[in-house]
Amino acid sequence: MYSGRYWIEYIIIISMQVKAKKHLGQNFLKDEGVLGRIVASANIAPDDFVVEIGPGTGILTQVLSEKAKRVISLELDSDLIPNLLKRFPLSSNVTIVRQDILQADLMEVLKKSQLPEGQSYKVVANIPYYITAPIIQYLLELPMPPECIVLMVQKEVAERITAKVGALSILAVSVQYYADAELSFIVPKTAFEPVPQVDSAVVRLVPKRSFDKDLDKKFFRCVKAGFSSRRKTLVNNFSASFHLPKDAVAQKLDRLGLDANIRAQALAIDDWQRVATAFE
Ligand code: SAM
Repeated sequence: MYSGRYWIEYIIIISMQVKAKKHLGQNFLKDEGVLGRIVASANIAPDDFVVEIGPGTGILTQVLSEKAKRVISLELDSDLIPNLLKRFPLSSNVTIVRQDILQADLMEVLKKSQLPEGQSYKVVANIPYYITAPIIQYLLELPMPPECIVLMVQKEVAERITAKVGALSILAVSVQYYADAELSFIVPKTAFEPVPQVDSAVVRLVPKRSFDKDLDKKFFRCVKAGFSSRRKTLVNNFSASFHLPKDAVAQKLDRLGLDANIRAQALAIDDWQRVATAFE
């Protein structure tokens, strides 16, 4: 699958094959068609600042750097840093930062990388799957969330995140509360080296609201209560979680125009917002 200018990935991956660190989620992309589709999903413009999580060998970094003004890539594995710095020297438009994304002060990193005041940025990454949920939460709770987030995740996770009303899970509600979410395309496991056990998919998240500690705490208190027992109705779950009589819960839901037999997965995000206000 490697061809033309991607020969360098081939060399790096061949030399790393035995060394790819499973515990760091190291499954490197080797399908250049997928690279183009990831970058197209993010609609990168020449003025864009792009944050990449886990550049690995730099295969995606390279394509991003050809489209964007600046790419800031945070990599945890110090063994990968020398090759990355050789490939993207200080004179290039790529800044390599050796850091755990979940410990990073991203706003500070962006400031140091000369992101002009008031300008937005994008996140594009083939992330390590072992920290998918923490990465998404981290990005959506940033003081200045990205304009758009394009991530490769496990296919099953992508489907859950982008599920529609009627099939929402607590994960879907947690993501869709902060962002519009769509599944861009499916990626077969053969697009990676080493080949993982599961297929993947690229999701595109467009943040629509900023993190608000107090408001969001109330919202998620309700969501968690609603999903506490998936098979039970909202009335039963709320009654048990909030120590309220069932008819009092049913009355409140009725006033919101919600059926007493409704289950958590059937509520849309704005229903949850109304419910959270009613059960404050
Ligand atoms: N971007 C490369 C590609 O597409 O081939 C590599 C993707 S690989 C799935 C995930 C990358 O994330 C690896 O390079 C891994 O070392 C790195 N990584 C793992 N945990 C990390 C963390 N907490 N912070 C930053 N990078 C991390």
